[in-house]
Amino acid sequence: MPRELIIISCTECKRKNYTSTKNKKKQAKRLEIKKFCKFCRKRMVHKEEK
Ligand SMILES: [Zn+2]
Repeated sequence: MPRELIIISCTECKRKNYTSTKNKKKQAKRLEIKKFCKFCRKRMVHKEEK
């Protein structure tokens, strides 16, 4: 199963805070998760980079 490395960045400050992997066949949509951003110092919505 090919899993692709993705970069997850904060939607507020645009910093690349996390990396993850995903299966492109299972997750066609762009990943969107709430995670703690150390730059905003609060939980922010993080989105997968293009
Ligand atoms: Zn941020």
